[in-house]
Amino acid sequence: ISKLAAMPKRVLRSSRSLTDQEAMLSGPFDLKARLLANENPYGPSAAAKKAIAGAIDTSYQYPFMQLSMLSGKIAAYEGVMIKNILMDAGSTPLLLAAAMHCTKGGKNVITGDPSYDDLPSRAEELDGKWVKVPLTADYKLDLDAMEAKVDANTGLVYVCNPNNPTATVVDTEKLKGFCERVSKKTMVFVDEAYIDYLPDPQAASMVSMIKAGHNIIVGRTFSKLYGFAGLRLGYMIAQPETIKTFEKYTTQAWSVTGTTLAAALAAYRETDFLNDTLKKTNAAKEYLYSVLKKEGYDYIPSSANFVMFQLKMDGKKFSNEMFKRGVGIRDWKFNGKDWCRVSIGRMDEMEAFAAAFKELS
Ligand code: PMP
Repeated sequence: ISKLAAMPKRVLRSSRSLTDQEAMLSGPFDLKARLLANENPYGPSAAAKKAIAGAIDTSYQYPFMQLSMLSGKIAAYEGVMIKNILMDAGSTPLLLAAAMHCTKGGKNVITGDPSYDDLPSRAEELDGKWVKVPLTADYKLDLDAMEAKVDANTGLVYVCNPNNPTATVVDTEKLKGFCERVSKKTMVFVDEAYIDYLPDPQAASMVSMIKAGHNIIVGRTFSKLYGFAGLRLGYMIAQPETIKTFEKYTTQAWSVTGTTLAAALAAYRETDFLNDTLKKTNAAKEYLYSVLKKEGYDYIPSSANFVMFQLKMDGKKFSNEMFKRGVGIRDWKFNGKDWCRVSIGRMDEMEAFAAAFKELS
């Protein structure tokens, strides 16, 4: 905290959507447990690291070929064409592109509340309006209520599935019906940043709806299960006309580095690494559940690498006290209550969380 206070505001605010704590955590500071940004501490994989080392010598070259090679690999796995894919340095630039294009002229973007707010808050800073739809009683996106809000002024409906910060998923068939109907009226952006944490990601993904000809966008990132948050790589899958439109708002191979692409080519669908990470994440999640239960806290069952639970004290005070104990988490306020979102880190990080949490409970 004192290091944070000593940092110039200009540094802390150098990236617009980061809170001070997030900016702090992206600095070279020593925390016992970094459970604030839903990162995967096991990544990048050994093969990805080796590929980065091997790509250094050729990093004076523009990496266009590697970009199309990776697009080809993703296209083959997903059963789409290269012209259905657009890549950038993380999925954040693609969320910005969607905010810029779809809410032009004061159109509104409909989201769940709470949900990942990067796209709608960008839209608001530009020209757009933000329509927030409360979650259902079981903390899922309320697809019926979101659909009911669509009107002639809607430019985009943003569906974060699994939803950040609640880690809940919507029923696949229900979402398919929603995409089919709503995409006839407006653009639907399904953010699948955490889809890889589901037992059968391909079955739950809305890429099948794109293949069936519907005009929706699926957003993906290497930042989560692949552990590439600092390497920066994301992509969207959509109809070729939508990709062409979005190309105007992005810079693709001029933004994504050759080293990152080399790492991604080595790591993409690397089953052993992915399964191992999922196994460790699930074990650490079960441990967290048991800690919360033992201390008498309810939590929302999680379908991703983070867990949301209701606090019994002020959220800001809680996160500051945890931070003082070397544990970074995120506090949230919704339904008039204080909540904590804790990412699933390594076991030693979860133990550090548990020790600090017990002191405060
Ligand atoms: N979508 C969701 C739902 C997220 O939680 C995040 C990051 N926390 C992103 C997109 C953006 O991630 P990135 O730019 O690293 O791909």
